[in-house]
Amino acid sequence: MNFHIHSTWSDGTYTPEIIVKEAIKRKIDKIAITDHYYTKKTASLPPKYIKMYVEDLKALRKKYEKDIDLYIGLEIDFSPRTDIDNLPDFEGVDFLLFEYVQDEIWEGYPLWMLLDLRKNLKIPVILAHNEISRNFSGTDYVSLAKVLQADKIGIELNTNYNYTKLDMPYYRLAEDFFKVIRDYEVPVSVGSDLHDDINELANTSDALSFIQEMHLENNFKLFLSEVEKNER
Ligand SMILES: [Zn+2]
Repeated sequence: MNFHIHSTWSDGTYTPEIIVKEAIKRKIDKIAITDHYYTKKTASLPPKYIKMYVEDLKALRKKYEKDIDLYIGLEIDFSPRTDIDNLPDFEGVDFLLFEYVQDEIWEGYPLWMLLDLRKNLKIPVILAHNEISRNFSGTDYVSLAKVLQADKIGIELNTNYNYTKLDMPYYRLAEDFFKVIRDYEVPVSVGSDLHDDINELANTSDALSFIQEMHLENNFKLFLSEVEKNER
């Protein structure tokens, strides 16, 4: 499974169909295309293209439904680079990834601003590649887990090399946090942030092992059931 993939709809190298075919070839069960929502940071989808994006991916979902489950996501740069006050309603989108939440280096907005916004979003919300141990250092993880559970915000385990420190993925640097959230209803997702290296498609195995090591199976199942609820 891989729930963080970019295509030619934003700054990825491959078309969604090439990605889907490659994923089937590699026997991957579930993937999500999660292109960038309109941001000054990179090639991304302006609001008026969201409908076309959703329709394109829905057609692909249908075409390959026997071989793979395809989900439709979008990644939102949660910073002044995005017009956060005028987000569209994201009809047909299965979930949203929010990157740079509470990340000062990337001028990310704080978590409390996402809590405000969350009330108007009807689909699952996940913090993408968050360096919890830095962005939430000094935060009591039990309180944080309670807030995430109450506001239905999940966490992604991102295996991309860009989200490592001393060769350790951010999630492995935050084991204390994950030991806490396994007792809360906080969804956990996995993804590799594929852009231009197709081999990244199958690069989620460390995240899947981490789920077993940390006993996060219920959190992962919760993520799967929430995106499935929104499918179609
Ligand atoms: Zn991404």
